[in-house]
Amino acid sequence: MKRTYTSRLTPGSKALVMGWVSHSRDLGGLKFFLLRDREGHVQVTAKKGSVPDSVLKTVESLSREDCISVAGTVKEAKQAPGGIEIIPESIEILSKSNTPLPIDIEGKIESGLDKRLDNRFLDLRNPKHSAIFRIRSHVFKACVDFFHSEEFININTPKITVAGVESGAELFPIVYFNREAFLSQSPQIYKQMMVAAGFEKVYEIAPVFRAEKSHTTRHLTEFTGIDFEMGFIRDMNDVMDVNERLIRHIVKHVKENCGRELETMGVSLRVPKKIPRLSLEEARTLLFKKGKKIPEGEDPDPEAEKLLGSMVKEKYGEELVFVYHYPWEKRPFYHMRPDGNPKVTESFDLIWNGVEIATGAQREHRYDVLKRQAKEKGIDLDSMKDYAAIFRYGCPPHGGTGLGLDRIVECMLGLKNIREAILLPRDPERLTP
Ligand code: ATP
Ligand code: MG
Repeated sequence: MKRTYTSRLTPGSKALVMGWVSHSRDLGGLKFFLLRDREGHVQVTAKKGSVPDSVLKTVESLSREDCISVAGTVKEAKQAPGGIEIIPESIEILSKSNTPLPIDIEGKIESGLDKRLDNRFLDLRNPKHSAIFRIRSHVFKACVDFFHSEEFININTPKITVAGVESGAELFPIVYFNREAFLSQSPQIYKQMMVAAGFEKVYEIAPVFRAEKSHTTRHLTEFTGIDFEMGFIRDMNDVMDVNERLIRHIVKHVKENCGRELETMGVSLRVPKKIPRLSLEEARTLLFKKGKKIPEGEDPDPEAEKLLGSMVKEKYGEELVFVYHYPWEKRPFYHMRPDGNPKVTESFDLIWNGVEIATGAQREHRYDVLKRQAKEKGIDLDSMKDYAAIFRYGCPPHGGTGLGLDRIVECMLGLKNIREAILLPRDPERLTP
């Protein structure tokens, strides 16, 4: 017989199901347990006299999380969860589980996040927790589908690098034979390089490493970056447009394909209509009215981002907002500056319910301007030989964005901690499992 998922059983038929033993009850002559597989649960009912004695004996010997296979007849049963049950004809124990379990899997006793993460593969047997990753899988698919529908070309760039264009403070050094190398902190250089190579529109979804000592609910030391870069843009609004369509596509796709998971988690999603775009100046004015001051030349802090998020929700009915024209002092040398306003950059952040999920910008593509900008920040462009070369043989105006997949999942589902949104988090303390 072919194996069936518990969600696809029809009363009156024979079925073979496989999974794990969850709750069980023994009323003497009547024994039940729930079998859980990745699609749900089904009750298995063994009544003395109606099932073989050997089957009854096996049921008696079962403990929680034993991995088993059950063959039997599917019947309607009003009192059973889901309205059906299986009357077993044979039960095979594929692998016994030790007792006691290190954590309570189906959440009767809540374990702390640390303990859950220490026992992550067991924690993920809880349908509420695995739902996050089924949704995350769809977010990934939605991104890939979106980029292809917009004619972006997928690239894979090295994660072992010599240095990036960022400050360097967050680089993880590695021993590379007899030299020092670093784990990639961003594919920035390479995605710009591939625009200059003539691909025009490229994207990459890959690990990003940041030696970030921060202990927050939104920082990891290894996360999944969604990066894109596009050539021949008019200005940064073209880049924001792509982000807006991307987010709309992700939410719509998850809404359409993850109904059951969203229900399990008690989350309802709303596809954004129009994501408002505020200059940092406008955001500053709004925040000031609410008593929150962001000093001139400074970025909004996390508290200001949160407050801005709730104000945008109130004013525009949207959970997302673009804030643009970040101060030159706070942005890297390669961000373009608007004509006649060297204090700001043609850059933006995308904020979802008060948390940054993306930073994007138009890049400076004019070699001489870029060289001057680098110098202002105390950097010699020509010392970054491979990066400087990109701008010397015909480089189109271009821009792009770095988004965080883990942050998107965290913000979209309203999770309290980014560690819930990643299978096996890495942070300054955690290097296992
Ligand atoms: P933050 O200000 O939140 O520390 P950032 O501005 O340093 O982030 P960027 O360099 O703009 O980060 O990275 C692009 C995107 O990658 C961010 O908007 C975020 O979604 C994600 N991201 C950055 N750092 C982390 C991190 N340490 N853990 C998880 N995601 C991250
Ligand atoms: Mg940023």
